[in-house]
Amino acid sequence: MSRIVFFCIPAHGHTNPTIEVVRELVKRGNTVRYYSFEPFKDKIEEAGAEFIACEKYLPELRKQDEKKIGKDFSALMDMVMSTTENMEETVYPELCKFHPDAIVSDSMCGWGKLFAKRMKAFYICSTTTFAFNRYTARLMKQNFLDIFRMMVGMRSVNKKIGVLKEKGYEINSMLDIIQNDNETNTIVFTSKEFQPMVETFSDRYYFVGPSIPNFRVEKQKKKRPLIYISLGTVNNKNSRFYENCIKAFGDQDMDVIMSVGEQTDIASLGEIPANFEVKNRVIQTAVLQRADVFVTHCGMNSVNESLYYGVPMVLFPQQSEQGTVAMRTKEMGAGELLKKNSPEAIKKMVYLVLHKPSCKEKAEEIGESFRNAGGAKKAADAIEKMIAARPIPAPKEKELEQMS
Ligand code: UDP
Repeated sequence: MSRIVFFCIPAHGHTNPTIEVVRELVKRGNTVRYYSFEPFKDKIEEAGAEFIACEKYLPELRKQDEKKIGKDFSALMDMVMSTTENMEETVYPELCKFHPDAIVSDSMCGWGKLFAKRMKAFYICSTTTFAFNRYTARLMKQNFLDIFRMMVGMRSVNKKIGVLKEKGYEINSMLDIIQNDNETNTIVFTSKEFQPMVETFSDRYYFVGPSIPNFRVEKQKKKRPLIYISLGTVNNKNSRFYENCIKAFGDQDMDVIMSVGEQTDIASLGEIPANFEVKNRVIQTAVLQRADVFVTHCGMNSVNESLYYGVPMVLFPQQSEQGTVAMRTKEMGAGELLKKNSPEAIKKMVYLVLHKPSCKEKAEEIGESFRNAGGAKKAADAIEKMIAARPIPAPKEKELEQMS
């Protein structure tokens, strides 16, 4: 039986898939400790792990910085460096004492990786987006604004990297946090079939499929197609897009469910046509089971859920990471790109996808690959196998002595 530590960033999409893996590991007799955040406490404890809250280590963010985290990569990395520094005094010695057989850390959760490397613990990466290496990095198409934001933010990030390096952390650049090589043991929550450039990853990458709530809604007879529209839960304030959707489909022979996010005032969108249901939030996995086309911002979770239920998509990415997901979905033939935010373009693309049977077939095929990928059981098998085959753990003797 092993002692395993999990680390994750405060995000549902990154935490949720790991919960079932934790449950499985605990069921098999392993001891699991999870460094996470209050919103996930109940889930983590219910899965059988020890929960440790990390809110107090996050840097204080100004309102404008909070908005940047989701859009600007250097802002995210800045936050990662500060959190690592803030955790150093408490979490790092606590970790050395716990003496884990493995540290499983989310691909964006730099502090887990940096601590693992510093204490020479056995490190396993967990990634809820596509696996990322120097080849797939080329697929990330950044627009001018992304690059400009990143260049501005880099000065502060580089300063913090310098400080951590002096303290003994293995870090030379931002890439050391997010990029793994083929020696890195990695759990990837997608299927081999959906992973771009899968041939560039070694057999240390375990593709276990996404974690989708396993429930089915009753099938209802439909008189006409159902279109589902959502821009996700984070950067979803885009009234012009919602108004354009209303203009595109208000007079069409179809039903539309549109989730506009908590920050959009539905009344501000004008008159809602009778064939529309507009909500601040819906149970997406239930809606998708009835939908014929999903107009999506291409968040990894939304696309996974859509494919899992075999729903073809109109792809409307808002950021570079979503752009990569959109390109892969299009390349696989399960969706078409929406290039313009206008009623005509939205209508044209929805009808194109609706009347293209190959899009639905492809979505179903990838959904099938998700269901066959092995899920939490395969992830737990892989983690136990990796631990059994790992080199002898060697935490730094001196540091251990100082702590006892
Ligand atoms: N979601 C939901 N109801 C909504 C909109 C979104 O349940 O009305 C869920 C959706 O099922 C998915 C997540 O929120 O699991 C969105 O994650 P994604 O990675 O797609 O995008 P993000 O919100 O992180 O941009």
